[in-house]
Formats: sequence, C-alpha cells, structure tokens
Amino acid sequence: MVCVLTLTIVTLIRSLYASIFRSPYRKRTWLRSILPWFVINLGMADKAKDCEKKDGEHEWYNINNEKSGCYHCHVIRDGQLWKV
Ligand SMILES: [Zn+2]
Repeated sequence: MVCVLTLTIVTLIRSLYASIFRSPYRKRTWLRSILPWFVINLGMADKAKDCEKKDGEHEWYNINNEKSGCYHCHVIRDGQLWKV
C-alpha cells in the first residue's frame, strides 16, 4: 500500500515537473488549469503568441475537426494536427 502511494506521488511530481518546465509557455498552461476564471480573464497566465519563436513545440488540440489550436499559444493551423 505504501509502495503504491509512493509510486503515485512520484508519477504526479514527474508529470507536474514535465508540464511546467519543458518550456516557458507550459507554465502558463499549468497556471490556467489551476487559477479561477476571473483571474485568467484579468490577463494573468494568458497564452503566448507563438511557441516556435521561443524554440518550443506546439501541443495541438481539436478545434472543429478541420483546424488545430495550440494549448500554449494563439497559433491555429489547418488540418488535424492533434492526431499526429
Ligand atoms: Zn504553441
């Protein structure tokens, strides 16, 4: 039981570390996931302009089955890039 709990905690810490520190924009994405909406609407933790301008990579989600948006910046592209 203690071993499973320890493994779970280690897994959570590793995923949190990966999501926060892989690029500067992933910190903002993580902040948006924990802050209340009214704080986000004040402009705190807003999306960046373009991940690739800071040598980062986009992480795509499905907008409407025809366009893909990045979780971390405002870039939107044609195609189903979230499937790649
Ligand atoms: Zn991006």
